[in-house]
Amino acid sequence: MMTSVLIVGGGVCGVRLAGLLRARGVSCILAESRSTLGGRVRTERYETPSAYADLGPAWVWPHQPRVLSLLRERSLPTFEQHTAGQLVFQDEHGATRRFDMATMGGSLRIQGGMLRLVESLAEDLEAKHLWLDAHLQRLECTDAGVRASFRDGRTLDVAQVVLTVPPRVLAATVSFEPELPSPLRNAMLGVPTWMAGHAKAVAIYDTPFWREGGLNGDAVSHCGPLGELHDASPHDTSAGALFGFFGKPAAWRRAHAATLQDEVRAQLAALFGDAAGRPRTLSIVDWAQDPLVATPADDAMLREHPRYGPLPPADGRWSNILLFSGTELAPTEGGYIEGALTAAERADNELAERRR
Ligand SMILES: Cc1cc2nc3c(=O)[nH]c(=O)nc-3n(C[C@H](O)[C@H](O)[C@H](O)COP(=O)(O)OP(=O)(O)OC[C@H]3O[C@@H](n4cnc5c(N)ncnc54)[C@H](O)[C@@H]3O)c2cc1C
Repeated sequence: MMTSVLIVGGGVCGVRLAGLLRARGVSCILAESRSTLGGRVRTERYETPSAYADLGPAWVWPHQPRVLSLLRERSLPTFEQHTAGQLVFQDEHGATRRFDMATMGGSLRIQGGMLRLVESLAEDLEAKHLWLDAHLQRLECTDAGVRASFRDGRTLDVAQVVLTVPPRVLAATVSFEPELPSPLRNAMLGVPTWMAGHAKAVAIYDTPFWREGGLNGDAVSHCGPLGELHDASPHDTSAGALFGFFGKPAAWRRAHAATLQDEVRAQLAALFGDAAGRPRTLSIVDWAQDPLVATPADDAMLREHPRYGPLPPADGRWSNILLFSGTELAPTEGGYIEGALTAAERADNELAERRR
């Protein structure tokens, strides 16, 4: 029997959608280009000291109903972003001052890191639903539905396809036969992928020693390379961690690739004291250099949250066969984990509607 639905992209949206379809008894395959699930969710785990670092998303917020109820349902506890203490401000010359303020109060983190949510959602699937290392290259309309062709030579014939890859990445990397209507293709290329131009650094220490010095781990810097920093320590302070978003754009980061680690260490020392310049581990992920997340159009870091929403319809032969999803197409909370879950529910409803 032909598989009903191919879901492309094993981020939060794709994994959640696969679980929802399975619960309704719809046969599906989830195809993910990487060898692991999560997409923009990436939690690195360390042994000594025992710690973890969210190199992609770290926060959820109290106004987001879907993610909070899933976390409750799956017994994944959250804790509040640490805010007690002072923020460090660094001017363009590198001079620092302290302020009685915190910038991310009320944000929630998941104990053990964001990947725990993805791992829990993946428990809803069976191995037979999952194609890892499956990079979609081409979709072709056939008399029976769609033929999907993957980079490693695999093909799959399905009735419908849900694409959860960021629209800009999709338009730039996947070919369609017949071609998608040009208003749709242009609209896809115009959707900025949330956080795709950013890079994140996480430094792991034995303890969150800056707290004893009256600092909360927040910093704002006009000199860089990091522009915005926060405490990223585990809830039980079994280790210390600081993370920062780079304030410098992708082109600067590429040009400084060889010295980036040293520059970050020097800045951490300037902000939080000499010990901060000697982390046990320093991990840096530059999302702008990840072709599964970013295109050259994403090099410029977004300063404001885009207005996300649906694309123009995939009409003609593609109507009722293709469905575009993923957080960038969510009607609310687009760009966020909550948006990815909303988009998954919406795609599930739409597929159920089409079957009626
Ligand atoms: C640095 C950073 C910080 C962030 N911080 C937050 C935060 O604190 N809170 C928050 O809510 N959100 C945050 N976000 C956004 C959050 O990560 C996204 O909203 C969410 O992960 C998107 O999930 P998704 O499934 O829609 O897309 P993705 O996670 O992008 O999943 C798409 C998947 O498609 C795969 N793929 C791509 N091309 C192909 C192909 N051709 N074939 C097969 N598979 C393919 C990719 O590998 C990926 O796994 C952050 C993002 C970044 C990068």
